[in-house]
Amino acid sequence: MEKIRIQDDLYTYVNQETLDSLVIPDDKPSTGGFSKLADDVEKIMMDEFDVMSKNKSYPNDYLKRAVQLYDIIKDADKKAKDGIAPALKSLEILKEVNSLQDFTRLYKTLELQGISTPINIAPEVDMKNTKQRLVYIQGPGVILPDASYYKPEMAQQKAQILALWTNVAKMVMAKTDLSQEEQEQYVADTLAFDEILGGLVKTSEEWSKYVEIYNPMETDKVSEMLSSVDFCAILNDLFQHVPQTVVVTEPRYFGEFAKVLNEENLSLYKHWAYVKSLLGSCNYLSEELREVGGMYMRALTGVAKMQSIEKFAYNVASQVYSDPVGMYYGEKYFGAEAKKDITEIVHQIIDCYKERIKTNEILGEETREKAILKLSKIGVKMGYPDKARDLFDKLVFNTEDSLFDVMLGLKQIQQLDVWSKLQEPTNPENWAMPGHMVNACYDPFVNDITFPAAILQAPFYSLKQTRSQNLGGIGAVIGHEISHAFDSNGAKCDENGNINDWWTEDDFARFNNKVQQMIQQFDGIELPWGKVNGAFIVSENMADNGGMAVTLDIMSKTEGASYEEYFNNWARVWCSKARQEYLQLLLSVDVHGPAILRANITPRNFKEWYSTFDVKETDKMYIAPEKRIVIW
Ligand SMILES: [Zn+2]
Repeated sequence: MEKIRIQDDLYTYVNQETLDSLVIPDDKPSTGGFSKLADDVEKIMMDEFDVMSKNKSYPNDYLKRAVQLYDIIKDADKKAKDGIAPALKSLEILKEVNSLQDFTRLYKTLELQGISTPINIAPEVDMKNTKQRLVYIQGPGVILPDASYYKPEMAQQKAQILALWTNVAKMVMAKTDLSQEEQEQYVADTLAFDEILGGLVKTSEEWSKYVEIYNPMETDKVSEMLSSVDFCAILNDLFQHVPQTVVVTEPRYFGEFAKVLNEENLSLYKHWAYVKSLLGSCNYLSEELREVGGMYMRALTGVAKMQSIEKFAYNVASQVYSDPVGMYYGEKYFGAEAKKDITEIVHQIIDCYKERIKTNEILGEETREKAILKLSKIGVKMGYPDKARDLFDKLVFNTEDSLFDVMLGLKQIQQLDVWSKLQEPTNPENWAMPGHMVNACYDPFVNDITFPAAILQAPFYSLKQTRSQNLGGIGAVIGHEISHAFDSNGAKCDENGNINDWWTEDDFARFNNKVQQMIQQFDGIELPWGKVNGAFIVSENMADNGGMAVTLDIMSKTEGASYEEYFNNWARVWCSKARQEYLQLLLSVDVHGPAILRANITPRNFKEWYSTFDVKETDKMYIAPEKRIVIW
């Protein structure tokens, strides 16, 4: 086999040996990079949970409840004894829905019972005044992984996947007390209802333009759109008053709502709600049902084996008690020295962006100042929060109940908490991600970045790594997140996170030109598992580009910097081995591009890439200078 040259394929050159040795765990769709770190954190925390459970000794009351929940989920015998009965009991409420009036009257109860409805109603941050909240309405999820699968050109794939789903649904329905005939009818009706939804709800690509979600309308107008139900009565039930404004996140769907829910298809809705809710409950019933219920998702991601009961238990418990579990992990495994060091890198990066903005050619004179103001106001959340949100004090349950009832009770508490927040001011102190999550994010409506403790380790960051390695790892990720403040969505929000047109038309024209170039740089690239949609992943690619530009700038001012170490570690953090099915799925649902492209395309835009490795026109990772894009 010919030896891979770094100039042709940085990603494979750096990661080949690791990729060869990596084995994707049977119960996971991928490993390496982010996934490997997440697996390590999972392992560490499961051991912690086991010790706490065994000694019946807990660091605090939150962890006590988390570990008790962990123990309940692991109790296979108890779950087998409870069987499917708790779920069937919760579905009985559907028998009372015999008219659209019944639906209106019972909407709140249905939602609290965990029964799917075609309208999701929740207070969310008002994007034009981020200190307060507005009611947002959204359509339901569909059976296929994304609404784009319902387009005519996807017909073949759609039929295949729906056959898979139908098979699983029938197996689960066979466990109910319904007759064979009823079971078939319920599944057929579910498919028919889903078909109506599929043509109307938004695709992931549409959701990715998140500023377009913001369509505030007078409640009276929304009420007319949703004429088949008494929308104001529902709002009054949830909020004890009828708010004046409602944000319609999916105008196409709600514009056609009369086609979704009407007297004629009420039974389609009921059967859809029954089947969908039951399938969604399988995880919290017997192990046998968890096995069957999970088959569809496993097939979609190519995963052979279901998660062990212990791993599953840990994952659920750590999600329910996310803030406290993240704080425990952070306090124990993330040191003050590292926190200080990374915070310093963050400020260095913000300062560097400010310098670069001063001479940036996209923004005009007057907007540059505002961009610098926005950068000055970026909040930094590093590691883990000091305090858990109040919600976690309320998340209590009875350890004698069935797992299904415990989970339903916890979800009810969460749902009531969400609804109760409508009149309350938003709290910028809340963390968007818990400390034990291997990820990072920028919140455009708070204008802050969050770096959980779990991502602040090698290869992203280590006190043992060189500054160049850390800049190629966590530095580029920090730069990536900050540049989301100036991507196609972030550009529409000001320093307080409010949607506000602070750019001039000329700024936007120059920026859109770059966006188009970036779309082209990725669009249509053929990978063994499918073709890349450049428009769908453009914001993330622009963020990668920004992250690399700013960290390379810092490299140029860092004594003893090694560009080789920088690019090597950049490629190392993207190392990922994933199942074919999963990679295919990600192409249509993940706004991030495939790891190999993120690693290999971004560097081509920078002169340091060419000078460090003497990359020539004949090399595969060469692009002509006029095609190179640097945005920020
Ligand atoms: Zn991003």
